[in-house]
Amino acid sequence: MSNSDENDSDESEPTGRCPVCPDHPDLEGLLDRDVEFRGCITCFGLFVHADALSQYVCNAVGDEDAVTAYDDLLVTALKKQGGPSKRVCPVCEEPMRRLGFGEAPFMILDRCENGHGLWLDKRELKKVVRTCRAQTAVLGLMPPPGREEDDDSVD
Ligand SMILES: [Zn+2]
Ligand SMILES: [Zn+2]
Repeated sequence: MSNSDENDSDESEPTGRCPVCPDHPDLEGLLDRDVEFRGCITCFGLFVHADALSQYVCNAVGDEDAVTAYDDLLVTALKKQGGPSKRVCPVCEEPMRRLGFGEAPFMILDRCENGHGLWLDKRELKKVVRTCRAQTAVLGLMPPPGREEDDDSVD
């Protein structure tokens, strides 16, 4: 964890600061379903790379086809990308852009235009999983979910 002297990772980026909380506390690196996030322990917002989020969705839905659904939703979202967000990217500190993502449910995420990642408010990660699961069913990749599952359930 604290091998700060070892230069073994490809890039030792700082985790950045929370774009939401007024005092912009440092984000903490965290791991959920083997995927790296940077999280704010005050507002529970999360910053994650778009590819990592894809991996998370795949792990959470438990079906590789969910990646196709996620890609589909992301492509659609990027085509109708919204206006500038009030929030800045934790990595490059440039203003992010609003990104309307998903259909059921729909949510507004913030996305760094330099490709650093997406900002998810508290609970939006679960919404992303839910909308991707629903989209997987829409695409006919798997049967529609018969029940509402808690995404925190153990595997
Ligand atoms: Zn925060
Ligand atoms: Zn950025």
